[in-house]
Amino acid sequence: TEACLTAIEGAGALNAFVHNTPELAIEQAKAADLRIKAGDAPDMCGLPLGIKDLFCTKGVPSQAASGILNGFVPGYESTVTQNLFDAGAVMLGKLNMDEFAMGSSNETSVYGNAVSPWRRGNEETALTPGGSSGGSASAVAADLCLAATGTDTGGSIRQPAAFVGITGIKPTYGRCSRWGVVAFASSLDQAGPMTKNVRDAAIMLETMCSHDPKDSTSADLAVPNFEAMLTGDIRGKKIGIPKEYQMDGMPAEIDALWAEGREMLKVAGAEIVDISLPHTKYALPAYYVIAPAEASSNLARYDGVRYGQRATLAQGDGITEMYEKTRAEGFGHEVQRRVMVGTYVLSAGFYDAYYNRARRVRALIKKDFEDVFAQGVDAILTPATPSAAFGLGEMTDADPVKMYLNDVFTVTVNLAGLPGIAVPAGLDSQGLPLGLQLIGRPWEEGDLLNAAYALE
Ligand code: GLN
Repeated sequence: TEACLTAIEGAGALNAFVHNTPELAIEQAKAADLRIKAGDAPDMCGLPLGIKDLFCTKGVPSQAASGILNGFVPGYESTVTQNLFDAGAVMLGKLNMDEFAMGSSNETSVYGNAVSPWRRGNEETALTPGGSSGGSASAVAADLCLAATGTDTGGSIRQPAAFVGITGIKPTYGRCSRWGVVAFASSLDQAGPMTKNVRDAAIMLETMCSHDPKDSTSADLAVPNFEAMLTGDIRGKKIGIPKEYQMDGMPAEIDALWAEGREMLKVAGAEIVDISLPHTKYALPAYYVIAPAEASSNLARYDGVRYGQRATLAQGDGITEMYEKTRAEGFGHEVQRRVMVGTYVLSAGFYDAYYNRARRVRALIKKDFEDVFAQGVDAILTPATPSAAFGLGEMTDADPVKMYLNDVFTVTVNLAGLPGIAVPAGLDSQGLPLGLQLIGRPWEEGDLLNAAYALE
């Protein structure tokens, strides 16, 4: 814990931590030490973690990297962080992210962007650690913490993990409680660990998962011992290669990496089969209707009355002006864009044309996966991202859709509620990490982690 606190002090340029809790960390580390000495050391005992700012942490500022939550200090603890603390974990502080987890580069944060510890060849250009869990990715990759929590609505654990060369798993929807995690799109949001390797991910995920009566979508299922399932034995497993993930214009290096991944799994004894997920091309448009729709509804609660910051009002301003001014000042541009898109697709005249159609497409995407699993496929191998990390600022002036395209391989997994893991798979010609993704059957995170372990 002390080594991490020192490393954090020296790494201000990464802008990964946005709120440090050194006193709390030392106190938790001392308590963990006593537990270890007493012979009662659960899995996470004494392990120093960073916590994404989207998790409400009791008595510690939790702003979801938004101006509108300025000054918000929760009086309660999220279930996931409570599970970690009960298992002896230590919190070093809160980690940077895109505002309300909306973004793929950590550039929509009220705290400014986090920076990747990686550089392209000899260039000075600062690169994105990805998003929205950019602070988590940067902190783990730069050894500022042993592991971090992330959340993933459309790729926010897997894309940043791939961009910085670490492991990140989004479990099946319902595995981790969403209670106390600031909501973005409730039918897609899931928490998960971001770690240095697959074994750490297995250990931390097991601690994070639990059935929670406070989240009605939390699954009432026993949580297996994921670490015990890491045998590395994947003989006879069927790994599907979806042809629709072969995108036009994808860098040859990503293709080569994908082929290498196939080869590694084959050598380990898996059977590689070609599969089709025919509705893949509709996933991004469906996601960028459903996620903003749910966000516009979830974010209605930030009205200047209940949480965080209220705008300064002029003489004669009424409650409408108070809402308008607070939301105009408190939300950044990307969040405002999503609220507008979401409100539009849910509005009476357009609901059927957009929202309902997107929901039907979502059902077809889910069915694509069910069909291949019914054919005996155990897991699906794809690239994690269509490119290596891009430079900060390179995408922000462009059409916002360009940034959205970065999520092409990850959003299907959230739409279908499946578990997905990104594992580091090598470096590109400029020395930047690239990741592969494995998608698993629902509730079979143990087997998925084991397949990822075989790729490590
Ligand atoms: N980049 C995607 C978005 O902006 C996904 C974000 C996430 O998973 N939280 O919506």
